[in-house]
Amino acid sequence: MIDAVLEALTEPALLLDPTGRVELANGAARERLGVWVVGRSYVSVLRQPALLAPVEDAFAEGRAGTARFTHNSGEVETLFDVRVTPVARAGARRQVLLVFRDVSEMRAGESMRRDFVANVSHELKTPLTAVMGFIETLQGPARQDPAAQERFLGLMAQETARMNRLVSDLLSLSRLEGQSRRRPTGRVDLITILDAAISPLRPRAEADGVAIVTDAPATAPAPGDRDQLIQVMTNLVENAIKYGARPGTVNVAVRAIDREPVIRGPAWRIDVVDGGMGIAPEHIPRLTERFYRVDTGRSRAEGGTGLGLAIVKHIVNRHRGRLKIESVAGQGTEVSITLPAER
Ligand code: ADP
Repeated sequence: MIDAVLEALTEPALLLDPTGRVELANGAARERLGVWVVGRSYVSVLRQPALLAPVEDAFAEGRAGTARFTHNSGEVETLFDVRVTPVARAGARRQVLLVFRDVSEMRAGESMRRDFVANVSHELKTPLTAVMGFIETLQGPARQDPAAQERFLGLMAQETARMNRLVSDLLSLSRLEGQSRRRPTGRVDLITILDAAISPLRPRAEADGVAIVTDAPATAPAPGDRDQLIQVMTNLVENAIKYGARPGTVNVAVRAIDREPVIRGPAWRIDVVDGGMGIAPEHIPRLTERFYRVDTGRSRAEGGTGLGLAIVKHIVNRHRGRLKIESVAGQGTEVSITLPAER
């Protein structure tokens, strides 16, 4: 009877006989901890002092308890919360039941949230500290110096614009996370969107000696969210300008694909190519993480928040599209997105 109950649990469970040997291990326990545990003494199975004391208490005093247990399978480390429950039986000595709850993911989530809050605080604190310094200077040493005042006000404008961009990007991200499962309902023309993204970037590109060259069909109809797709194109072209060669060229190409295997239908592929410094291969898988930058100093100097590609990834996923980054260090980078086309 108890075998059937244990077997039905999705969590690993071990039943110890009165001598402390594993009498029963359910399927989840055999899979997660190993089949070898059956018949072994709990001391050799658990081997962690934090867990041995509550088990001894359960045998000796009939007391229930909990403990932490880290299991290492050689490849992955799993963290369990273990409930230790004495099982009293009329006329027989006590057994002890151990039920393992996997809390690794919860832990990983918590630590990600902590890192995120620490990152945001740090990103805001830097410009804030700078602005506070400028205010002090304006109140003190620069009080009678109009030229210095002009300069410091300019710097303050830069720092507050940076904080403003950071907060806007954070709001975009949190909105995107809220709607990740809802497909966009609009219909758009990707070429109009590309123009809307590129036009405002031209003055900056020209000032940096960068030409933006597009190669695209007249129209590219697709299902999508206009504002979000403008943001995608803006972030990609802006990155190509920021991290590309100066003087140099950013090439943007739009191509039709009859049948994209992953999308399982017609698609548009948009490539943004620069001839810049490129990205070393070890960084590429991490670029879409929030606040991940190859060179923090360079990103900051260019006005970057470290959130651009994280936003791109979210929007592309919401559109059921794909994002691919290819780069040769020293030669340039090609960022491609594939989006479902209108059928
Ligand atoms: P940022 O605001 O720092 O530009 P992104 O999320 O847009 O943040 O990009 C993350 C990092 O990826 C950048 O800091 C930069 O190191 C790298 N990166 C992005 N695009 C390019 C590119 N076209 N060429 C080289 N590096 C790039």
